[in-house]
Amino acid sequence: MKLTAEKVAGMDIGGFLGEHYACACGKDHFMDMDNIFIESGAINRVAEVVRNYKSTEPLIIADENTFKVAGEKVAHLLDDAGIKYRTHIFPGKPVLVPDEKTAGSILFAIGEKTDLLLAVGTGVINDITKYVSRRVNIPEVLVATAPSMDGFVSDTAAPTVGNLKSSFPCNLPRTILGDTDILKDAPEVMILAGFGDIIGKYSALTDWQLSRIVNDEYYCELTAQITQDVLDKCVANIDAMTRREPAAIKDVMEGLIRTGIAMSYVNNSRPASGSEHHYSHYLEMQYLFQGKEALLHGTKVGITSIIVAKLYETLANEQPDFDAAIAHAKAFSQTDWERNVRKYYDSAAEGVICAAKTDKRNDIDARIKRIEKIREHWSEIQALAKSAKSTAFIENIFRRAGAPLRPKDVGIPNELINDALYIGREVRTRYSIIHLLEDLGLTEKCAAVIDKFIAE
Ligand SMILES: [Zn+2]
Ligand SMILES: [Zn+2]
Repeated sequence: MKLTAEKVAGMDIGGFLGEHYACACGKDHFMDMDNIFIESGAINRVAEVVRNYKSTEPLIIADENTFKVAGEKVAHLLDDAGIKYRTHIFPGKPVLVPDEKTAGSILFAIGEKTDLLLAVGTGVINDITKYVSRRVNIPEVLVATAPSMDGFVSDTAAPTVGNLKSSFPCNLPRTILGDTDILKDAPEVMILAGFGDIIGKYSALTDWQLSRIVNDEYYCELTAQITQDVLDKCVANIDAMTRREPAAIKDVMEGLIRTGIAMSYVNNSRPASGSEHHYSHYLEMQYLFQGKEALLHGTKVGITSIIVAKLYETLANEQPDFDAAIAHAKAFSQTDWERNVRKYYDSAAEGVICAAKTDKRNDIDARIKRIEKIREHWSEIQALAKSAKSTAFIENIFRRAGAPLRPKDVGIPNELINDALYIGREVRTRYSIIHLLEDLGLTEKCAAVIDKFIAE
């Protein structure tokens, strides 16, 4: 079947699944999932779904909170249907970390007869279950408890391994049950985090276009449209979301899943993740190093998407000195770079240094070529920066939603935001505005702008 703009605009979420779509971008877009039910009472389908997979002994994976919210009901429904199951329940506190220990503990809970992983939760529980599902080749079904982040159906998991935020291929949940009666009662901070993760897509899409110009990176108009439609819908329904109207909560949950579908369509995270996610991943790692309790992913993405809007606003009014940028590139010192990485990346530093050798991110010739390309396309880049949503626009969205606006509102030290601009790009190499600023030798200047901005 052919994918068209009209089809994308009018598609029911189930329409994206299990169908091959030929696209003008040259790719065949395919989402390998069976079902997504986001509706009132969706949880009541659980026994039927388990039977559909011919499962005779699913393993329910939850934490104390999600077990109370939905896991107990799942267990009762399975009892009523005469389906045997095992349970693996993590403590409710401290916040579960998506690391080796969490993954390992699920592995040990898998029994000889476990034939389905029934994850009950959101962020971390789903992310780690998706990964384990791939490693042990047992399908996952997800009962979602909060519309809190965008990774529900991403085919990469983002665990922290050796303290480094990593990325691993994983299975998708075969079916998702999102009961709007449960989702609408999720804690406000989680709904706002999901909403923040969606609003972060404005800068993700701009960064994708930026890299298309600078690096000739693959770009798919129709996939970008899937994300844009989600943004439009969620922004139009802010007030209904704050009133917890089920239809608006469904839009947030579906929006998070739709952006995941967009990622799967292009086999990378471009339609959903840009510099705001670089910031967020960097902050997450620093919190881990410092032993601080993690903030929700979407909370960080939301706040830093305002900062990225400020960066684009600044870039729109810049007239870079390209010759100075080339001289700056030539003066690059690998020794100084490694010293800096060791200073900021703690126990993850060697991983970053090793990754840089493989992906050749410090190649001086490649960087000079990029700068020439930026010079050649400067008017296009500036037009893109001007077309990016303004800081005032993004802030107003969050103000209406009742979400935090500044790092200090959620206890993130301003100093960390500053560090993230300098060194946060090393978490992931995906090209974004923070990489472009460094290429142009503008990092320091922009850091001063952001410093002043977040101190207001
Ligand atoms: Zn395409
Ligand atoms: Zn995200």
